[in-house]
Amino acid sequence: MPTQPARPQPELARPQPALTHQQPAQAPAPLAGPTSAARPQNGPAGPGRRPATPQRPGRPVTPRSAAGPAAQGAPGARPSLAEIISEQERIFIERQPESGRLAQQAKEALAGGVTSSWQIARPQPVWLSHGSGSKLYDVDGNEYVDLHGGYGVSLAGHAHPAIVEAVQRQVANGTHFAQPTRDALAVAQQLSERFGLPQWRFGNSGTEATMDAVHLMRAITERDLIIKVEGCYHGHHDSVQVSVYPEPDEMGPADRPASAPSSTGIPKALTDLTLIVGFNDLAAVQRVLEAHPGQIAGLILEPIMMNAGIILPEPGYLAGLKELLHAHGALLTFDEVKTGLTAGPAGAIGVTGVTPDLICLAKAIGGGLSVAAVGGTAAVMEHVANGDYEMVGTFNGNPLAMAATRAMLYEVAIPEAYQRIEVLRQQAVAATERAIAVNGLAARVVSVGAKGCIVFTDQPVTDFRSFLAIDGNYSQAHWLFQHNGGVFLPPWGKAEQWLISVQHDASDIERFNGNVARFAASIAGVGKVLDSAG
Ligand code: PLP
Repeated sequence: MPTQPARPQPELARPQPALTHQQPAQAPAPLAGPTSAARPQNGPAGPGRRPATPQRPGRPVTPRSAAGPAAQGAPGARPSLAEIISEQERIFIERQPESGRLAQQAKEALAGGVTSSWQIARPQPVWLSHGSGSKLYDVDGNEYVDLHGGYGVSLAGHAHPAIVEAVQRQVANGTHFAQPTRDALAVAQQLSERFGLPQWRFGNSGTEATMDAVHLMRAITERDLIIKVEGCYHGHHDSVQVSVYPEPDEMGPADRPASAPSSTGIPKALTDLTLIVGFNDLAAVQRVLEAHPGQIAGLILEPIMMNAGIILPEPGYLAGLKELLHAHGALLTFDEVKTGLTAGPAGAIGVTGVTPDLICLAKAIGGGLSVAAVGGTAAVMEHVANGDYEMVGTFNGNPLAMAATRAMLYEVAIPEAYQRIEVLRQQAVAATERAIAVNGLAARVVSVGAKGCIVFTDQPVTDFRSFLAIDGNYSQAHWLFQHNGGVFLPPWGKAEQWLISVQHDASDIERFNGNVARFAASIAGVGKVLDSAG
């Protein structure tokens, strides 16, 4: 399976200075201890589902959270983490009466009152009215610095002039033809240049992209089995809805993870075709390849895991995967739906220097419109070109989506934008590390390009199982503090990351940093109380 030669860049994990940052907190100290009363989210909700529900905050600051009403039962007592969360939820609901009203009304016409099940969040979904630049506005008139980024889509921010212009122009010229346009060619050329893979096709969502990649690996090798990494999410088609967020009792042993269904409605016969390994575990891949000689079509993974906070590949891991798979006649797919343009201008490929056989892109590449891309080596894409595998879809290469994607690649996600984002990343990371150190928290910041998160543990997190051991209540409380302080982060606290857009500025990051400082101080108080109580 010949592939493109790897680009001449160092492999990651030793973070590439400009793009990556992973800094253990100084003076780590245990975070607050027992928090059983506050176990809302971050415990998986069911097979294959994300952790149960998070909540959100809302009004400027909350200094009283360190000694709010919920905490004032006993004189001098500091609030527990559960009490802090509950107080922040109270503020959240108080700030958003219209969201609450719409959420109730919506239950009549929208199943579950939302448009995607992951919008169901505690205490209620936030209904939005509009976005502009780096900001979002809810239906109650609250303004937020948007670091949610629509789960990693909004690298362009909102209503970016280049995207607005491209979309308006194309709307006036027709929005759908089911025939190729010049924009599609320009997009493919630019993606080839960035990612070092010569040939491309388009789709409409990350799910479609990874589905086509899996089909293609099977079609080319004429083998049925694939390998997937535990804890990676690749969308909601059958082959990859396996061991995404498995319950502890269904995961199986660490050296031989089970293929646990990640959704209802998926036949076991299909789940069994997806074999599971841990992230950063080359030996496991070798074992699986040797146990199923000539039967493995390929492996799909997020090269930098971004549905479990951010977990970086260890040095040599990705290159080792490629070598192992090729030695067994199997293919390697990078799912860069999340890392695509956000980890850097050439995603994880650019950061790590490892080029796979196939790459899947979606989310940020469309500048806010639905679009996906699958790129491959000449050897792989020949099977599409010659009809061995028919990669189809009515909306593939849709002219409206292609116009927006072209503007995104040529006018928005450009070198100057990445330089600005890097300055903002450093601003956020430095202040967060300061807050962690000053308050002696067992936490650290992990960031790559426009993405970053606080990881609330002093233990190494190298795979899904070590990620699972993190108490999600801290991320949840942080999420609430940010929301009530006017910063919108993605709801699924410990699983998700911030996204800095090309339209954010220093004042936006200042708001984030202020919330981090207040949150860290309030949590440090909790820790001390629990320590002394223990
Ligand atoms: N792959 C990754 C890494 C993702 O994070 C996601 C969505 O979050 C997908 C694929 C699926 O993308 P979509 O929701 O557009 O189908």
